[in-house]
Amino acid sequence: MHDNKDISFKKLVDAIHQQAQAALDDPYVFKRPIKNVAVIGAGAHGLCSARHLKEVGMHVKVFERNSSVGGLWKYSATPPLKPKVPTDCITSEYDNLDKYFLKDPKNFAFPDFPFSEGTPAFTTHENVLAYFERYTDTFRLLPLIEFDTSVDQVIKAAEGSWELALSEYKRYPNGFIRETKWRERFDAVVAALGMHQVPFIPDLKSLAEYNKLWPKKVMHSKQVSGVDIARSLEGFAKSITISIKGPFVSLNPIDNVLRQLIPKDAAIKPVIASFSNPDRKVDSSITFEDGSVMKEVDQVIFCTGYSLSLGYMKQLVIKDNQQSTKEGLSYADVPEGHVVLGPKSPLNVYHDTFCFVSMPRFFSLSPYFDIQAKTIARVWSNNMHIPSREKNASN
Ligand SMILES: Cc1cc2nc3c(=O)[nH]c(=O)nc-3n(C[C@H](O)[C@H](O)[C@H](O)COP(=O)(O)OP(=O)(O)OC[C@H]3O[C@@H](n4cnc5c(N)ncnc54)[C@H](O)[C@@H]3O)c2cc1C
Repeated sequence: MHDNKDISFKKLVDAIHQQAQAALDDPYVFKRPIKNVAVIGAGAHGLCSARHLKEVGMHVKVFERNSSVGGLWKYSATPPLKPKVPTDCITSEYDNLDKYFLKDPKNFAFPDFPFSEGTPAFTTHENVLAYFERYTDTFRLLPLIEFDTSVDQVIKAAEGSWELALSEYKRYPNGFIRETKWRERFDAVVAALGMHQVPFIPDLKSLAEYNKLWPKKVMHSKQVSGVDIARSLEGFAKSITISIKGPFVSLNPIDNVLRQLIPKDAAIKPVIASFSNPDRKVDSSITFEDGSVMKEVDQVIFCTGYSLSLGYMKQLVIKDNQQSTKEGLSYADVPEGHVVLGPKSPLNVYHDTFCFVSMPRFFSLSPYFDIQAKTIARVWSNNMHIPSREKNASN
C-alpha cells in the first residue's frame, strides 16, 4: 500500500499508465463469459450499474427491498426503527455532508443525463428523486427491477457463480404480507446496497442506562444531517447544543464549509464524556469532556453516521473478535475472498465476479458513480481489460 504523503499527481498518473500497460501486456482472463448479473439495490449506484450492464448486452436483474427506486432519496415521513443503542458495528461516517453539495445540480447529474431545465440550486430531495425516476424511465430499467425483494444472503456457488437467497414481501390491500423465499444463480453480482442504510450510535459512557430510562429522548437523525437539523431547530428549540469531535475548525475543508452554516447561537461542545452528572449518577444530565454539564436535556439526536452491515455476505465475513493481535489481522492473514469486520477491516475480496459500487468518504457525485458502473460493465463484457492477477500483485 502507498504512503499517502508520497502520492503526487504525477506519481498517480504514472501508476495508472503502468496499470493500463500491464493490462494490455497481460490481461486478466475470465474463466467463463459473464451473461447473467444480479444488482442489489435500486438507488443511484444500482440504477446506473443496471443501465450500463444492460447496454453491453448483459441479462440484468435488480433486487430492491423497497417498493420504489431512488434509495436514500425516497424520503419517508415514517421514522425509521431506532437502532440498537449503542450500535455494535463498523461505521461509515456521513454525519455532516448534506444537500449543500447540490449547490449546482450539474455537479450531481450523470454525465449524459442532466437535471430538468430550471432545477434550482440547493434543490430538494423530491427533485433528486424525480431525477432518478426519469433516469429509470429513460433507460427502461423498470422491467429489470424486482421490488419488495430483499437479498438475504450472497453465497459463493459452484464454478465461480453466485447464489442469492431472496425474500419477497407482497402486501395485500387487507394488510396481509406474504413472504416468499427462493434462490437464484448468477454469473456475477453488483452490491449497490448503499452505505447509509443502517444508523450507527456510538458506545458512550452510561448511554445504555440513559437510553433504558428515557428511550424517547435518544434518537438517530438517519435521513437528515446534523447541520440541517440544527438549522431547522433554530427558532423552535429553547437551546441547541452541538457536540463535535476535534477542533471546530477542522482539517477537512468540507467540514468547515458546512460548519459555517450552524446557527450562531448554537453552543458548541466537545465530545460527550458520559450520559450522567460528574458524580456518575444517571439523572438525565450530560457531562462533556471539558467538564461542563448540560441539565434538562429534552432530546439527544445522534448524527453519528451509519453501520456498514455485511450481514448478507455472512459466509465470507470473519468476525472482529477473531482478530488475535492488538494491531488486528494483516491483509495477508485474511483468506482469499473474505472480509474482516472490525476497526482495521482488511479486505481480501479478490472475486472477479463480485463488485461493490459505492461512494468514497468525502464526496458523492453521480459522475463518479457512472464511471464505476461503466468500468464494471466494460470489464465484464471484455471491452476493457484489467491486469492479470500475477501482474496486479507484482505492481
Ligand atoms: C443525510 C444524507 C444526505 C446526503 N446528501 C447528499 C447530497 O446532498 N449530495 C450527494 O451527492 N449525496 C448525498 N448523500 C449521499 C447519498 O448516499 C448518495 O447520493 C446516493 O444516494 C447513494 O446511492 P446508493 O445507491 O449508493 O445508496 P442508497 O441510495 O442507499 O440505495 C441503496 C438501495 O439498496 C437497497 N437495499 C439495501 N439492502 C438491500 C438488500 N439486502 N436487498 C435488496 N435491496 C437492498 C435499499 O433499499 C436502497 O434502495 C447523502 C446521504 C445522506 C445519508
